[in-house]
Amino acid sequence: MSNQMKASQNETKKRTIVEIADGITVGGRSLLIVAGPCSVESEEQMEIVGSALRGQGVSAIRGGCYKPRTSPYAFQGLGEEGLNILSNMSKKYSLPIITEVMSEKQADIAVHTADVLQIGSRNMQNFELLKHIGTLRKPVILKRGLAATLEELVSAAEYILAGGNTQVILCERGIRSYDNQTRNVLDLGGVVALREMTHLPILVDPSHACGRRELVADLARAAIACGADGLMIECHPDPEKSVSDARQAISMQDMIDILRSIEPIAHAVGRTLCSPHLIKPVQETPDAENAGNNVHKMNGYESLMAELKDLRREIDRSDSKIAALLEERLTLAIRVGELKQELKIPSRDVAREREVIDLVGLSCSDPRISAKVRSIYERIMEASRQLQVENSLPSRVA
Ligand code: PEP
Ligand code: MN
Repeated sequence: MSNQMKASQNETKKRTIVEIADGITVGGRSLLIVAGPCSVESEEQMEIVGSALRGQGVSAIRGGCYKPRTSPYAFQGLGEEGLNILSNMSKKYSLPIITEVMSEKQADIAVHTADVLQIGSRNMQNFELLKHIGTLRKPVILKRGLAATLEELVSAAEYILAGGNTQVILCERGIRSYDNQTRNVLDLGGVVALREMTHLPILVDPSHACGRRELVADLARAAIACGADGLMIECHPDPEKSVSDARQAISMQDMIDILRSIEPIAHAVGRTLCSPHLIKPVQETPDAENAGNNVHKMNGYESLMAELKDLRREIDRSDSKIAALLEERLTLAIRVGELKQELKIPSRDVAREREVIDLVGLSCSDPRISAKVRSIYERIMEASRQLQVENSLPSRVA
């Protein structure tokens, strides 16, 4: 593949970050988790999806309104009615929405509602559609074709980039193979290889890849562990009753459980879930209030418990950032120790230590916190000194 391609990885290895809504990004540290039903079926269905998933680390809600179905007699999607349902849910819960389009006409309609357009596997090489998407200024998820090579996927993305739309997100969703135990074969090796080939963000859709709900969670975790920038997962308030792809739909609770189980894996590979702060408060419209009969309203105790849960999640995020920064700081201290040895200057510099501690103390505005940070820093300085000494000892291994 030519290196002139806009989609190709370049020497800087800098990854593209696509912002799908205010502050909600993919390709950087934050993972983009897209969840929702295969098809938009009703207001009630999307109400349950939005209320269950907001603030859980999900970045956006999916829901098909124009469905690519193998049989022309199967449910084809609610079309514009579905887009209206998505739009109401999105406004109420301030959650971005993603929906598939299969034609230029559908793209021109959905572009006004959706935050991200999806080009499905069956249209990965619909070049006229790709060219049209290239003229829009809207993020797009481009799914890998059922039997497309990675080069073909990257070349398809090139069609969109060449048109001037730089907000392309790739999605591995399984490819056809000979084994029939899973619907498709999830190509995680391909995900790792894609990161070498392109700077574009890469999602993994474990639902369409395996086609069986019981396999989705493990594949989702594996995808994050191997460096995917996010996930697209199909979930449904009543999975067995999904009008499409019922066999792979997971329940809302299973979706939330996956999110919780992904958090430590994300942290281990230097990533985080979408911060709840980025999701704006629920917009209660008069209509939504009236429809409140089937909307669960939290009582005082439940809302305090929810706040506690949110705060704990925030604390976990802070801790993972602090741990990463401490590692960076202590690694720098080791190098400083090595330099001092080479320069033959004393390893301990008490004046410099005091200066560092005073400086961090001054960085805090609350005096109570400042005193605590200073004492934490005494321990950090001690750890730095210990590491410098350990590093300078002759290795015990012959
Ligand atoms: C979908 O995401 O609803 C879908 C149809 O996926 P794919 O194009 O990967 O089959
Ligand atoms: Mn589906």
